[in-house]
Amino acid sequence: MKEYDVIVIGGGPAGLAAAESAHNKGAHVAVLEREARLGGILKQCVHDGFGLIRFGEKLAGPEYAERYIDTVKSLDIDTYTLTFVTRMRRNGNVFDIDCVGRDGMSKFRAKAVVLATGCRERTAKQVLIQGTRPAGVFTAGTAQNYVNLMGKLPAKKCVILGSGDIGLIMARRLTLEGAEVEGVYEVKPEPSGLTRNIHQCLHDFDIPLHLSHTVTRVFGADRLTAVEVAQVDDKMKPVKGTERIIECDALILSVGLIPENELAESLGVKINPFTKGPDCDQTYMSSVEGVFSAGNALNVFDLVDYVSECAADAGAAAAERKSSGECVRIERGKGLLSFVPHRIDLAKPCDRVVFFFRSVKDMDKGTLKISVDGREMYKKKFAFLRPPEMQRVEIDFSAFGLKTDSAVSVELEEN
Ligand SMILES: Cc1cc2nc3c(=O)[nH]c(=O)nc-3n(C[C@H](O)[C@H](O)[C@H](O)COP(=O)(O)OP(=O)(O)OC[C@H]3O[C@@H](n4cnc5c(N)ncnc54)[C@H](O)[C@@H]3O)c2cc1C
Repeated sequence: MKEYDVIVIGGGPAGLAAAESAHNKGAHVAVLEREARLGGILKQCVHDGFGLIRFGEKLAGPEYAERYIDTVKSLDIDTYTLTFVTRMRRNGNVFDIDCVGRDGMSKFRAKAVVLATGCRERTAKQVLIQGTRPAGVFTAGTAQNYVNLMGKLPAKKCVILGSGDIGLIMARRLTLEGAEVEGVYEVKPEPSGLTRNIHQCLHDFDIPLHLSHTVTRVFGADRLTAVEVAQVDDKMKPVKGTERIIECDALILSVGLIPENELAESLGVKINPFTKGPDCDQTYMSSVEGVFSAGNALNVFDLVDYVSECAADAGAAAAERKSSGECVRIERGKGLLSFVPHRIDLAKPCDRVVFFFRSVKDMDKGTLKISVDGREMYKKKFAFLRPPEMQRVEIDFSAFGLKTDSAVSVELEEN
């Protein structure tokens, strides 16, 4: 049994930032990572655009990850790779963690844990496409892994379903590698990815984006030979007579990411229905004392810089383990898709709460408003709000005179 003050599960950018800040607060820290190398998903993100906020530089994914890996390796932090956490349970005031690795089972014990397990992609099974089940249907992340890590081109001609950022990035990547991308088909009337990715990955490469369209059927016995696409109505139902068959050897899916929280759930951590990650306070502590969450496991972020910021705060809080007190919930009002944190713990500092949120729809102008017991205590105007683009704001909740029975609500008003 190896014992630590803080154990971080997941060695991606969130886990590395959490480990560094927990160490800087004086904790004895370990990082457990199931893959052979640290860096998480950034290992396969060879495009640039990472680190503009954190480092003021445009870095490729592996470069961004390397900065944190170098820092963690230079500190007295133990890192265990090829170490898959299979089970966690609370044992009084500590957490017992079971892992499987090359040498068989291993056991760890920690006073606090940071869950930084990232997220996974929704698969074909979750979007219910009819037809056969041939090879050639895979997620954009899998295609990215083939091209960027294994050096294999998984398609000669493909259709991309969903306009999430990974799909957009792969549309450009596959084109640069010599594949033909027939088009990107998005069921919603607006794209799901960042505006900059629509321009840099589709427009700059003349790849068509078909909004309000979906893939309704796949064809092929061993390998995919074609897909059927159709326009959808305002209830997202395919419109009869608009079907079109496209010959292709791959269907690439970019239809959403789901925070990976099986370990959290096994500990009884409450999951927020809007972020699909742990319900958390301003230090990113979950509903279970001593269990913290960071990065894409907490909330799917669009920028890794925000992942590192929130993880650093979670790591520091895990090291300090300030005892928790009464919490005031932040109720979700109109105009907001999701936000973190979900509650303010009155026993912990709340004068600089980093509040991340997404709007429920496109808004040219919107005002974020926070009310306490019906009185407006805070407002801030924003321009060009879009659901794929997460917003960040710092709020001094200590100025609101919160009490245990305060009713706090947040809303986004369209102007
Ligand atoms: C294709 C793509 C393009 C992107 N482009 C950009 C961009 O241009 N700019 C930008 O700022 N951001 C971008 N991002 C977002 C950014 O990469 C992510 O926000 C960030 O990597 C999330 O970090 P994380 O540490 O939370 O998760 P991850 O990087 O996914 O790391 C999680 C780690 O946890 C490990 N793990 C999970 N479960 C266990 C377990 N049970 N036991 C042990 N280990 C476990 C995993 O193996 C993994 O290494 C992109 C993401 C993707 C996928």
